[in-house]
Amino acid sequence: MSHWLDVVVAAPAHSAIAGPLTYQSQSPLADGTLVRVPLGRREVLGVVWENREGSGDLLEMQTKSIAGALVGLDPLPATWRKLVGFTAAYYQRSLGEVALAALPPQLRDMTAVQLARRLKRPQTDSSHEQRPSGVELSTQQLEALAGFEADARPALLFGATGSGKTEVYLHAAEKVLAEDPAAQVLVMVPEINLTPQLQARFQERFAHLGKERVVSLHSGLTPAQRLKSWLSAHAGHARLILGTRMAILASMPRLRLIVVDEEHDPSYKQQEGARYSARDLAVYRAKLETEEAGEGEVCKVMLGSATPSLESWQATIAGRYQRLSMSERVGSSTISSEDAGRSAGPPQARPAPSGGRELHAVSKRGGLPLVRGVDMNHQPKHAVIAPPLLDAIAQRVARGEQSLIFLNRRGYAPVLACHDCGWKSECPHCSAYRVFHKIDRTLRCHHCGFTERVPRACPSCGNIDIAPVGRGTERLEEHLAELLAGVKRPDGGAVRIARIDADTTRLKGALESQLASVHSGEVDVLVGTQMIAKGHDFRHITLVAAINPDGALFSSDFRAPERLFSLLMQAAGRAGRDAKHSEASEMWVQTFHPTHPLFAALKAHDYPKFADQQLAERQAAGMSPFGYSALVRAEAKEQSVAQGFLNAAAAAVALEEEHPQVMAYPAVPMMIQRVANIERAQMLVESSSRVALQRFLSAWQPVLFETRRQDGFKSLVRWAVDVDPIAI
Ligand code: ADP
Ligand code: ZN
Ligand code: ZN
Repeated sequence: MSHWLDVVVAAPAHSAIAGPLTYQSQSPLADGTLVRVPLGRREVLGVVWENREGSGDLLEMQTKSIAGALVGLDPLPATWRKLVGFTAAYYQRSLGEVALAALPPQLRDMTAVQLARRLKRPQTDSSHEQRPSGVELSTQQLEALAGFEADARPALLFGATGSGKTEVYLHAAEKVLAEDPAAQVLVMVPEINLTPQLQARFQERFAHLGKERVVSLHSGLTPAQRLKSWLSAHAGHARLILGTRMAILASMPRLRLIVVDEEHDPSYKQQEGARYSARDLAVYRAKLETEEAGEGEVCKVMLGSATPSLESWQATIAGRYQRLSMSERVGSSTISSEDAGRSAGPPQARPAPSGGRELHAVSKRGGLPLVRGVDMNHQPKHAVIAPPLLDAIAQRVARGEQSLIFLNRRGYAPVLACHDCGWKSECPHCSAYRVFHKIDRTLRCHHCGFTERVPRACPSCGNIDIAPVGRGTERLEEHLAELLAGVKRPDGGAVRIARIDADTTRLKGALESQLASVHSGEVDVLVGTQMIAKGHDFRHITLVAAINPDGALFSSDFRAPERLFSLLMQAAGRAGRDAKHSEASEMWVQTFHPTHPLFAALKAHDYPKFADQQLAERQAAGMSPFGYSALVRAEAKEQSVAQGFLNAAAAAVALEEEHPQVMAYPAVPMMIQRVANIERAQMLVESSSRVALQRFLSAWQPVLFETRRQDGFKSLVRWAVDVDPIAI
């Protein structure tokens, strides 16, 4: 007897296959079973979405049979299928695309036999004694945990940098894992490659579960490692899953806690394919898992940040989320001797840490660094580093302390220019300048990658005097070396400057080794991009400086101030993490706009004040979180085609009559209009109602497909919808 199955397969983006395809099978297969099915001339991986009633209207002759089932593998749980279904619908992609992208790539090409070999059950590890963590929680940590326990809503852990959020995650996870011997916990971090420290901390803390039960899931893994982690999570063997955004779509049959660290971080938003927000999906998934869980069981979610996204912050104001606040840094009075011993050694010339036992007063700032603004209008013209800041850095070097200098632009100079004829190092393929990299004397486009040797003379007029304009980290490093050349370290040695950015960390392991040398005190002044501003638990940095943060103040993107504020707070959070130093630690900000309210809030370490300002502005303008939006982007050889397509598709729906709550703006070129010779345009669609926007987008999707087929738009390269975009 035949069984009829609706099977979801990976359809190429924008193909006609949007929903499941029907196949037949001789044996019954549960929903969620992975199968291999014929598709055209290929055989592909699919997921049984639903068993159909074997009704007579399905002609056996026309329905192909599945090629095989991966029977060794448990079916994907109903919750997972619901999550995938929601993701596809909400982010306007096909079910198959989302479902298959959520599976490890290696699975796609595996036969049942190959898989069976992989599925050899891991031996149950001998149960290890749970070691006490050695950390005594602070009062505010205990209160946060108690609050989390007592409330079923999603929690926002609003904790200053260094307030011990990670410790709260660890304890929350420990509790869930101890109470239910099968429970799984997902901890998400923005970029796992930037946080080897965190990974080590989790692995160490949960070592008693057995090594194999703590797994990570991120794009830095080899395909084989990723498959292994995924299979372990799917089988319920992995108890703690540490992952980046992709992990939210992993199959975890008994998920009971989701932690989203640095929940405001833009990297939680997927930027291709289904452009989902892993943070938003985390909240949704927790709700779904709770609904599907047994009587009395719940899946909770904790979002953590020192500078929450305004969306999450507003949710705490509206009462949809609970807010747990930790305003003070962990005081040294509570640092256990184990912790003090584990922190990296001091620079040679400094006295050894004094065991961490003595008490240090926590300042009014809760142990956070003093923020000093430098008004660049009153500094010597063309000064890159204001003299008082330079002095402060020099003093740090002389005392054997570390400084972190932060500039969000890599390379030597953003532009190379001829002062005679005005030639600039434009990229011939993009509407952007190529960046001058002095180290290998190249001009590199940071958008399309186009790279050339620096010309000897101006390509336009022959002038040999072409010069760098502006400054990137490479040039800043060079400049600092000159400025600090005469400064001696306590041991009489010369200052040691290092740089960490995407250029210095290209090779595998480079970031880790560079970070290690900072931790071990081999560096006095660290120059870098936002890569070093986030997350790292540097113990000997007492000064952090932002060299040129002004650009984001007047950006056309309404989220730019939010991002800048959080980046500066994060950067400030790198200073004085060791309580010994917290009193003398400083964050310097060079700006031409010292009276900007953003800096006032920064000085006061006052995120709530900043959030209030921003929320008021956004409410007035009906922007997120008070309004909802989607961007539709189109790419073509010609700008007119890209824009024309979007405008035609919008004109083809009766917006005013059928979607009165939705507003579509005329298409405009994207900020960087051309990349790799492709013109890019976008259309903003807004609504004060999430439901109305969703309804419109679903209705519009087929219209976009239809429009694409029209003669005028044959040359369109691609288009995509971005729901809840994070960059406008
Ligand atoms: P956050 O994530 O909030 O920036 P962390 O969790 O990294 O802060 O904590 C900062 C430092 O304080 C870490 O080195 C951590 O080991 C330490 N720490 C956290 N909680 C405690 C505690 N209760 N007692 C002692 N040290 C702690
Ligand atoms: Zn010239
Ligand atoms: Zn380019």
